[in-house]
Amino acid sequence: MEDCIFCKIVSGEISTEKVYEDDQVTAFHDANPAAPTHILIVPNRHIRSINQVTAEDEQLLGHLFTAARLLAEQRGIASSGYRLIINTGPDAGQAVFHLHLHLLGGGRMKHPMG
Ligand code: AMP
Ligand code: ZN
Repeated sequence: MEDCIFCKIVSGEISTEKVYEDDQVTAFHDANPAAPTHILIVPNRHIRSINQVTAEDEQLLGHLFTAARLLAEQRGIASSGYRLIINTGPDAGQAVFHLHLHLLGGGRMKHPMG
């Protein structure tokens, strides 16, 4: 997908430190962290948002969560706790229209839901 910043990170066109990568998903630090640990996990294939997912994407969506669990363990926040967020559309403030799972942790959350 042209002009998609996360596609460019996945392809390496934009050089960003990747904290995890496999054949389905890529993870990297959020450029504007909202918590001591703030990692974005994105499918390697361009999907705009949850509004576009289909039953065919179910394995891939599950894999995003497996990667999140692995990263939480690697970053030492599995027991202290973390939050996983997927923003969808304007009311949720989605700013990048390439599906991504936010992994936030490393400190007590200031709001029960965000
Ligand atoms: P959302 O509001 O869920 O669409 O979140 C988009 C997130 O992407 C924000 O937290 C941004 O800080 C982050 N972001 C945007 N551009 C980049 C980038 N080039 N590298 C890393 N994170 C980015
Ligand atoms: Zn994309």
